[in-house]
Amino acid sequence: MTLKVAVIGGGIIGLCSAYYLRKAGMEVDIFEKTDGSDGCSFGNAGYISPSHFIPLASPGIVSAGFKYLLSPVSPFYIKPRLDLSLVHWGFKFWANATEKKVEVHIPPLNAILQFSREKTIEISNDLGNNFDLQLKGCYMMFRNARTGDHETELAHKAARLGMGTIVLDNRALNEAEPGLGISALGAVLYPIDAHLHPGKWVRAMRTYLTAAGVNIRYNAELTGLEIEGGKIQNIRIGTSEDLSCDHVVFATGSWLPQVVEKAGLRLLLQPGKGYSTTFENVPVNLSKPAILVDDRVAMTPLGENLRVGGTMELSGINHDISLPRVQAILNAVNRNFEALRLTMPTREKLWCGLRPVSPDGLPYLGNSAKVKNLTVAGGHAMLGISLAAGTGQLVTSLVLGSKPDVDLSAFRIDRY
Ligand SMILES: Cc1cc2nc3c(=O)[nH]c(=O)nc-3n(C[C@H](O)[C@H](O)[C@H](O)COP(=O)(O)OP(=O)(O)OC[C@H]3O[C@@H](n4cnc5c(N)ncnc54)[C@H](O)[C@@H]3O)c2cc1C
Repeated sequence: MTLKVAVIGGGIIGLCSAYYLRKAGMEVDIFEKTDGSDGCSFGNAGYISPSHFIPLASPGIVSAGFKYLLSPVSPFYIKPRLDLSLVHWGFKFWANATEKKVEVHIPPLNAILQFSREKTIEISNDLGNNFDLQLKGCYMMFRNARTGDHETELAHKAARLGMGTIVLDNRALNEAEPGLGISALGAVLYPIDAHLHPGKWVRAMRTYLTAAGVNIRYNAELTGLEIEGGKIQNIRIGTSEDLSCDHVVFATGSWLPQVVEKAGLRLLLQPGKGYSTTFENVPVNLSKPAILVDDRVAMTPLGENLRVGGTMELSGINHDISLPRVQAILNAVNRNFEALRLTMPTREKLWCGLRPVSPDGLPYLGNSAKVKNLTVAGGHAMLGISLAAGTGQLVTSLVLGSKPDVDLSAFRIDRY
């Protein structure tokens, strides 16, 4: 009997899950509550980053958080408000941001990052590389010596995980990236990193999946579940449409808490807003992505275009754009690159997305113990693109009940 699976959420996690579920021979429907024209999976920086093996909840981010907390131009911001779920999330985040916890979280995060990189290449080969995957690496650029020391320390950690790095001083950096007038002190290059065009990836996946027989429905919000005997019998779409299925996958990004609640589950997660804007036909471009570590700004060359982005703003579910924060991103780029004189684009060219952030920076990936035919895949925070392909394959193992390729115990969905 063919298993009928409903994937809720049409972002990159839902799409990659549908991809591997379909490959395994299942009948798959995707339900997406919006018209599918935008979302967090579209305008992000497009990094595939094994280099990001330090989870978001780490001592560095907590000290940065305190430093910046109330600044209107900071790269990390928490909007003060009375919200119990934020308070609860904040305590757990704080408790996870210790050296000891980080050391525990590095191996599982590294394992899924490495696995997912391979799976991204696999999907790219299958689809005819139509989303511009490039295996060129990524620079971690730094402006001050202390940041440089920290990045060098991380490079040593990366070496212990089997990842090679190349350290460049300012001169070597300018030789590698001519014409940009780089003032950063230096950089650590992670050749293992890759990048792609995220919007193209989303669209290419949809085209592929539709041709492969996956039914993708837009303006189709999951509003309820009928659970009987510990199993989901029917899902409710919109106000009155009830549909039966054998298994349900929740891949609803920042809306995961509201959706799991329908299954009687609880999950801690905060939306972390980030901004990006893409400058077209820049006169001179980077050959590979760069992170400006001191300013927490990401730069991605997309053909002739340059995307810049950053900030982690915990201000709830909203898509308001803060111009001072966007300006701070542009200023950081201009400070580091003499040849780039970026000015504020028009409002239509500014994008924001909500990263689904768990309190430890690790994804939620597992089956529910309470509802037998439910798999949850979300909370990928800053790593949703990096981890999407691997997540899709692992979701398929969870649905089939087969041994996953990566140990999933660190990603249990009931860990908080
Ligand atoms: C500025 C910025 C830069 C980033 N850069 C990178 C990067 O370089 N590399 C990287 O790995 N990650 C990056 N990220 C993070 C990455 O974009 C996210 O982790 C990823 O897009 C999350 O994918 P998702 O499918 O879980 O969520 P989404 O893309 O948010 O998809 C979830 C979907 O579920 C739908 N949904 C919600 N509720 C329901 C419902 N009840 N019924 C039906 N549908 C529903 C939503 O409408 C949404 O479309 C970045 C993020 C930002 C903001």
